[in-house]
Amino acid sequence: MTKVSQEQLVDVLSKHQLRKTETRIHVLNIFFNNEYALAHSALEKQLGNAYDRVTIYRTLNTFEEAGIIHQVPSSGEAKFALCHAHCDHQHHQDQHLHFNCTNCKQTFCLENVNIPTIDYPKNYEVHSLHITATGVCKNCKI
Ligand SMILES: [Zn+2]
Ligand SMILES: [Zn+2]
Ligand SMILES: [Zn+2]
Repeated sequence: MTKVSQEQLVDVLSKHQLRKTETRIHVLNIFFNNEYALAHSALEKQLGNAYDRVTIYRTLNTFEEAGIIHQVPSSGEAKFALCHAHCDHQHHQDQHLHFNCTNCKQTFCLENVNIPTIDYPKNYEVHSLHITATGVCKNCKI
């Protein structure tokens, strides 16, 4: 689990042209401290109910638009995870596989898995591709 300093968090915000606020720092820190994607409710719980729902939603929106987090394909509640690709404003480049664990119900971003190149039919312009695998994650396998 990665521990990040306050300076690193501020740095991430400024790289994405966001002003630092207490909420943003707090929310960002939680994303850095979890290896799996977080739903709004999980985030709220980890924040210790320190902020109201609207503030959290707004923060998530801002982060997604800025290219700090991306939405993860999920059957239930929307989940978000940190972007590791060089995403920026309105332009996400996360092309990785997502893994849904049927045991702990968490979703993981698998960055180092090769995604096969797909030949799309003529005249189809692809904007995003989501590949999701389902199974048992490394934490539950032991
Ligand atoms: Zn992204
Ligand atoms: Zn699991
Ligand atoms: Zn992801």
